This record gives sequence, structure tokens and C-alpha cells, in this order.
Amino acid sequence: MNFFSFLDSSPQVQDSKRHDINVRTQLAGHLTGIRHAGLQKICAALNLPSSLEEGRHNKRDKELLQVVQKFANESTSTAIQEAIDVPKSTDITVSGDGTWQTRGFSSKHGAADLISTCDSPKVVDIETCSKTCNVCLGAESLLQLGTLEARAKYNQIIINHDCGKNFDQPSGNMEASSILKMFRRSEKKYGVRYKGFIYLGIEIQKIEDINHFGKRLKRALEVIKQKCGKEKLSDGKIIGGKGRLTDQMITPFQIYFCEAIRKNKNDLDKLYKSAQV
Ligand SMILES: [Zn+2]
Repeated sequence: MNFFSFLDSSPQVQDSKRHDINVRTQLAGHLTGIRHAGLQKICAALNLPSSLEEGRHNKRDKELLQVVQKFANESTSTAIQEAIDVPKSTDITVSGDGTWQTRGFSSKHGAADLISTCDSPKVVDIETCSKTCNVCLGAESLLQLGTLEARAKYNQIIINHDCGKNFDQPSGNMEASSILKMFRRSEKKYGVRYKGFIYLGIEIQKIEDINHFGKRLKRALEVIKQKCGKEKLSDGKIIGGKGRLTDQMITPFQIYFCEAIRKNKNDLDKLYKSAQV
């Protein structure tokens, strides 16, 4: 009998049978992106007992997600309060940034955040975009069986699940779409308005800023085009070529985009639609 198996090496989490070290390890697996498979390899390399069996790990993930979401909400609410306290106004300026799960414009998942512009900037809101849903993908494998029972089971899963897919546009639109969503909900969620937005390093607030923004946009497009090079995007084509983003298209795009901002500066929905065209 192993004497040490009776000794706890880590405190127990309050109101839970789980130990602090195990919960932290699971969280670390997500923060680093190595997840369950990566944690198992680390345990094996360190000659430690294997981490949780995958099914139990996934079950624990759901509990962990609720806790992480609770802390994230508390953190963003505190950050909003700090952002209001500095100018003593509910009209605040934010900056934003987006990221994709995988490199380039073919990622199935993306996220964007809004950040306060205080002396110590903090995340005030986040939004994610997913073009696929793991539950839908798993259920689709049932259809391969081709039986009536499998079809019935598929329908049952699809109807009853909380679908993770919330985005149908090209991956390149994820950042703008997420930021728009966060702007739309600011009053309802926090009772604040984002009166200024810092993007590509400049604040979009006054109409005079738009020309400056246009120049930055042009430069950003040139960099993106250069970075993508001959790499195939999500639609299987490269970024350049006929009807695509050519060098000749960048300047008209800059002019059109600035015009769309000027014409629709008081209507965010119209501005978004106009920019999409
Ligand atoms: Zn789904």
C-alpha cells in the first residue's frame, strides 16, 4: 500500500471534492492551448499519475467554464467602473483588437475584445465568433449510418443543444462584427456609450480623423496583402488577382470606406452595412 496516497499535497477547493492543484492544472491546459491530450503527455514525461480520464475532464470543463465566466464578468464590470471613474462620465473611449484561433483568414474561430483607455487599460468586453459547432459535427457522424434511428437521434441532438456556431461570414469579418456587437450592447450591458474608438493606433471620434484613419487603413491593407502573399484563403483562392484585393483596389477601397463613415456617422447599422458592401 502506498503510504503517500493518503496524504493530500494540495488543499481542497471550497464546497468541492476537487483539489486546488487539479483545477489549476486543468485551467492551465486551456490557457496554454494544450488541453487534455497535452496534460497527459506532461504527466507521462514527469512520471506522474495520469490526469483525469477524458470524459470526466470534459465534464469538469463545463463546471470550470461557469467559474471562469463568472470571474470574467466580475473583471469586466470592475474595468468598466474604472473607465467611468477617470473621466467621470459614462461616455468612454475604448480600443479594440481581434484574434483568430489559427493563423490567417481561414480560421473557424475568432475573438475580439474592447479595452479601456485608462492609465492601466483593462478588458471591458469580449465576444467570440465560431463558424463550427463540435456538437453539430459530432451529430453529423450519425447521419453516415443512414438509419432512421440515427436520423431521429441526430434531430434530437440538434434540437436540444445550445449551438456554438454563431458566425456565417468570411473569417476576415470576425473582428469588425464582434466589435459592432459589443458597441451595440454597451448601454444595455453596462449603461455606458463608447464615444471614441482607438483603432490602428488612432482615435475615431471626430470627422477630421477619418482622413488619417483612411491612410492607416490603406497601410494596413498593404501589409495584410503582403503577408498573405500566395497563401490560399478559406475560399481556396489567394488574396490578390481579378476581382480580389489588388494594389489598384486598395486606394478606391480607402476612399469608399472613408466616404461610408462620413455619410453614416450617426447610424452604426447603416455604417456597418455600407462598409460591408
Ligand atoms: Zn451546434
